[in-house]
Amino acid sequence: MEKNFDYLKDLIRTIPDFPEKGILFRDITTLLKNKKGLKDVIDIFTERYKDKNIDYVLGADARGFIFGAAIAYNIGAGFIPVRKKGKLPYKTISADYTLEYGTNSIEIHEDAIEKESTVVIVDDLLATGGTARAMIDLVDKIGAKIHELAFMIELKDLNGVDKLNGHNVFSILKY
Ligand code: AMP
Repeated sequence: MEKNFDYLKDLIRTIPDFPEKGILFRDITTLLKNKKGLKDVIDIFTERYKDKNIDYVLGADARGFIFGAAIAYNIGAGFIPVRKKGKLPYKTISADYTLEYGTNSIEIHEDAIEKESTVVIVDDLLATGGTARAMIDLVDKIGAKIHELAFMIELKDLNGVDKLNGHNVFSILKY
């Protein structure tokens, strides 16, 4: 596998002023449809988390589901969707967060994770860190252990890492 993953940046399309003026939207659909790009990203995460005794991969709604489920399958862990408010049918625990654009609330089923389990949190992109921080808050409420937070893309200038309570953070590409 290649050590420098910057070639993956060529597969990501940047759309200025979406969904609001001033936002440089990193469109990963162009990477996802590329056979090598998709495989390489999943392989990088898989190599990193296999044999680490991870019980669950938590994916953030919605693009975190794409990577999260594939990683979970590969490393022999379960997959847990953390969803936007109102989507989960059973009893939930929720946490509020602010986005680079807008505010929202995310939820997890209250019985999704056992206290003694170890999880990896996955999303496509770390921007302000609001979403990831809310995911941490959910896991903390349950009392489970966070092995690491994993992102395909990290937007360095927004300092999202600073919101993540000192947890380990891994990102494949930095902008
Ligand atoms: P944040 O909570 O600010 O870290 O935002 C992260 C979430 O918003 C991720 O789920 C991303 O999919 C999405 N997001 C935020 N900013 C961008 C961006 N510039 N390009 C693409 N997706 C973004």
